[in-house]
Amino acid sequence: MPDKSTRSERVTAAAKDKVTPHVAPHAQPGSVVPGAGTASVVPSATPGAAPSAGPGAGRKIYAVVKYGDAILEKPSSLITKFDTELEELTEDMFASMYAAQGVGLAAPQIGKGIRLAVVDVTGGKNPEAKIVLINPEVVHAEGEKREEEGCLSIPGFRGYVIRPQFVTVKAQNAKGETFEIRGEDLLARAFCHEIDHLNGILFIQHLSMLKRDLIRRKIKKLRKLGEW
Ligand code: ZN
Repeated sequence: MPDKSTRSERVTAAAKDKVTPHVAPHAQPGSVVPGAGTASVVPSATPGAAPSAGPGAGRKIYAVVKYGDAILEKPSSLITKFDTELEELTEDMFASMYAAQGVGLAAPQIGKGIRLAVVDVTGGKNPEAKIVLINPEVVHAEGEKREEEGCLSIPGFRGYVIRPQFVTVKAQNAKGETFEIRGEDLLARAFCHEIDHLNGILFIQHLSMLKRDLIRRKIKKLRKLGEW
């Protein structure tokens, strides 16, 4: 994790100006924050125990399902029941995401095939930056950005993926209320990455066949060694 602190500071600084204003429905497009797009969806992860303090303390920490598990490549089901159990699950997912040092986590990654994802590009530093996406869909996309991306389910592997620079996502919150949220750069990337998960798509599917096969072969080798 050589550049973790630098990177998360940069993300926090960018997100401070960015995340909150766009939570409002029909938010106006914000300005581009230079540097925000250089951060990746998943900073180098160090899976570990639940923190005894800080964001996510005292919550259930789920193990992240790794590439190779069929649930990651299946489309998830719509959520129709909005109850306290769902609210608890979203909080446990934030805690699990923070524990894994990710900035986004989709339900299939904890073995649940339901259309729920959580995103926080500040890594738990700003409670207002916590975004719950239930039954999300991209309703508008604009521009293109090519940045390096990773995934908690494919630890140790990264690749450049072209994503829209801006997206507007329509989703429901844990209470079932519909809202729209606009994201740019890293936030737009995180939204697209997580919505892909809900459709059974992993970031490696956006890479060239050559690069994807290379990653698959290396994972196969790791699995044989019992390291995956
Ligand atoms: Zn992922």
